[in-house]
Amino acid sequence: MFAGIELGGTKTVCAVGTCSTDLVARTEFPTGDPVATLREVAAFFRQHTFERVGVAAFGPVDLRASSKTYGHILKTPKEAWRGFDLAGSLRTALCTEIRIDTDVGCAALGEMTWGAARGLQTFLYVTIGTGIGGGAYVNGHPLHGLLHPEMGHLIIPRDPGDEFPGSCPSHVDCLEGLAAGHSMEKRWGAPPRTLPPDHAAWALETRYLATAIVNWLLTLSPECIILGGGIMERISFEALRARVLELLNDYCDAPPLVRPALGRDSGVLGAIALAAQSPL
Ligand code: ZN
Repeated sequence: MFAGIELGGTKTVCAVGTCSTDLVARTEFPTGDPVATLREVAAFFRQHTFERVGVAAFGPVDLRASSKTYGHILKTPKEAWRGFDLAGSLRTALCTEIRIDTDVGCAALGEMTWGAARGLQTFLYVTIGTGIGGGAYVNGHPLHGLLHPEMGHLIIPRDPGDEFPGSCPSHVDCLEGLAAGHSMEKRWGAPPRTLPPDHAAWALETRYLATAIVNWLLTLSPECIILGGGIMERISFEALRARVLELLNDYCDAPPLVRPALGRDSGVLGAIALAAQSPL
């Protein structure tokens, strides 16, 4: 039995199980400050026995094994979490080995193990919701390096005539600043879920996402791109693919663009898959 924690910006999901079809327990609650959140995490896991814990954390998070701050949350806009020793605190609270990756890195692993990327070696998992994030597996391994991919902060050309300034606190008009859910809400003055299907927001969103997808695929050459998150539930995959092919202009083919097979549990299931990997 293995434990998984998905620590998201707004909610935290905890689960215990062996695979995607065998979760023996699952709970979720709003992510609070570190003390309150860890208290709830510990209260849930105290009721279960398991071998190891996998953690799918919002980023940026230090994943360099040799680093003194391995497993710490880095420069997040969530001030209470900035510099927090997430892996160390969980190890102390749960008295067990902790394995950690980003939320999207874990979601990618979950989809590779049980979902839409089974049998693939090089693919992307991208989520487009309140924010935008992406995890990459390359030749069967998670892509980590200087940091980890931060695909949401790609600098992309503005759509002609788009006068919305952008909303990323770090880069203003990066992809996230122009096209994430929080940006759509600021741009249109209403939550994206309330915008009707024929609203101009969706055509603009499709153009921005297609531009980002073309940049990701030309850089990493994925065999498949899995697109999850609340905004993707409103986007036409056919229209998105057509725009990607238009931008590629016959230079190369586009890989399949697909929805996550594990739905909204890709992250926590990926955390369980991370915990279940053979000892490092
Ligand atoms: Zn940015």
